[in-house]
Amino acid sequence: MKKISLLLLVVFCFLQCKTPKDKTYDSFTVEKYAEIIEKNSLKEKLFTIAADSFEGRETGELGQKKAAAYLKDFYEKHHISPGNNGKYYQEIPSAYFDYKFKDTENVIAMIEGHEFPEEIITVSAHYDHLGIDDNGEIYNGADDDGSGTVAVMQMAKAFKEASENGHGPRRTIVFMHFTGEEKGLLGSRYYTENPIFPLAKTVTNLNIDMIGRIDDFHQTDQHYIYLIGSDRLSSELDSVINQQNRAHTQLKLDYKYNDEDDPQRLYYRSDHYNFAKHNIPVAFFFSGLHEDYHKISDTADKIEYDLMTERAKLVFYSLWEIANSDKKLKVDKAS
Ligand SMILES: [Zn+2]
Repeated sequence: MKKISLLLLVVFCFLQCKTPKDKTYDSFTVEKYAEIIEKNSLKEKLFTIAADSFEGRETGELGQKKAAAYLKDFYEKHHISPGNNGKYYQEIPSAYFDYKFKDTENVIAMIEGHEFPEEIITVSAHYDHLGIDDNGEIYNGADDDGSGTVAVMQMAKAFKEASENGHGPRRTIVFMHFTGEEKGLLGSRYYTENPIFPLAKTVTNLNIDMIGRIDDFHQTDQHYIYLIGSDRLSSELDSVINQQNRAHTQLKLDYKYNDEDDPQRLYYRSDHYNFAKHNIPVAFFFSGLHEDYHKISDTADKIEYDLMTERAKLVFYSLWEIANSDKKLKVDKAS
């Protein structure tokens, strides 16, 4: 009897130690892949996408097409799967919106989950910006939202490398680059009205829009990020981000703009809102407004690359946790 119990205990321990969770959750493992979210790679990509040659990436214009091709090439080169049934582009017909452009496209890539592939975790940033004005001045949009765009690219690279080494996510992660944000959140609206992955199975949307600067409120306290919306639909989402921040990045999480009465109404002003409308828990990562916002002076040389890297890492750690946790994130405050 004793011997059998001992044997069972040994077998039990062996099975426990061999679960994929153990391997994936090891904090050494996640920190190793977080190192791929690295300053110089982010900087190089941001100087590319915010260069004059991208002509301000205006929706439907040549610069936006060039940026879409740059993103597609990146995912192809790193063998990260296309996210729209074999294609990287989700084409948006110009007839769809009141705003007239030539056609435009969202760019979408994915890494399939190995245990709960039908559960979808999304991370997004818009890659369009304001283009060129009548005087020929180019709006490079380095912070808005070149910063989020390159952060999403680098996270995809980190998750891909983890996958190749046997640490792939348990749930599917979808990397979304939206077009038409500056024209009224058009790309994300089109996606949520024509979803590629069922919205009912979409666990969360973490959205990054401007994470590269320091605003007037934080000149003396620069190690911060604004967190908006993270507690509005799922208290678990907010606690995951807080836990990951405590464990890894130790940024000051500023909830100023999360206040329902805040006059800036930032909760409604970027792509995550189109997911929140469908009761999908969202978190919006943002470093604040500044004097170069929507001006030709929002250039890549003004970005705080060390800070931007830390902020991107917080999103990465949160994604890793949500994609690999035993239980799916709960929606407990749906409207
Ligand atoms: Zn933006």
